[in-house]
Amino acid sequence: MNKTTLADGSPVTPDHREIDPTTDQQRGYVVLSAEERAKGFVRPVRRSYVHLKCGALTKMSLPLAETYARQPDFYSGTFCVGCGTHFPLTEFHWDGTNEVVGS
Ligand SMILES: [Zn+2]
Repeated sequence: MNKTTLADGSPVTPDHREIDPTTDQQRGYVVLSAEERAKGFVRPVRRSYVHLKCGALTKMSLPLAETYARQPDFYSGTFCVGCGTHFPLTEFHWDGTNEVVGS
């Protein structure tokens, strides 16, 4: 199994999936470790995606974007800033493309 951390590089905690009421996002998001991401990408590093249902554009931090680029199937769902909650990846396209996030 590939080594993972939270997006800020800290160790993965048992409560990282708890929703922070101030942001509606998880307290932390798991990413591939910096060491694993440094091994190279199989997709471009894309920083934003569009939710097809509401049209909102959500931007990600670089560690998450690089995790998608290294391992496109790493995540099963993601956050929409427009809706304020998480949905399956099939509801999102990379910004400016017709490509489903995670493909
Ligand atoms: Zn949305």
